[in-house]
Amino acid sequence: MDVHSPEQRSFNMSRIRGKNTRPEIMVRRWLWANGYRYRLHRKDLPGKPDIVLPKYRAAIFVHGCFWHRHGCKTTTTPSTNMEFWLKKFDDTINRDQRNIQTLLENGWRVGIVWECVLTGKNADLNIFTKHFREWVHSNTMLLSVPNSL
Ligand SMILES: [Zn+2]
Repeated sequence: MDVHSPEQRSFNMSRIRGKNTRPEIMVRRWLWANGYRYRLHRKDLPGKPDIVLPKYRAAIFVHGCFWHRHGCKTTTTPSTNMEFWLKKFDDTINRDQRNIQTLLENGWRVGIVWECVLTGKNADLNIFTKHFREWVHSNTMLLSVPNSL
């Protein structure tokens, strides 16, 4: 007998799928093609950033809008088992904030790339590349692209 509720199961599944997602691979391809060299999933860093650019002391997270609560149109909340979801979302937001804070305190610059700029109806790779380029060559500590719509 499966002891997990459907919600719990799909949550677990999404966690498993969380690494090497399509949006993440898009970012990596672009970085590589444009001469940015990186390392993947540095386990020794808070939150295991998806991509790290040592030369720029930059840690990149490619975030799913639903799980990480981007605030764009895909940031929906299921109407059943709401308590379960709200708790999960809360935990994720708190964990993300802690990780980002710790990285910043350790002198890392943190770039959050939301999946909606990479895939889906409103995707626009040019927005990502423009903001990323500006940020990575600047002294700005934090990037979030795109900002919540
Ligand atoms: Zn989004």
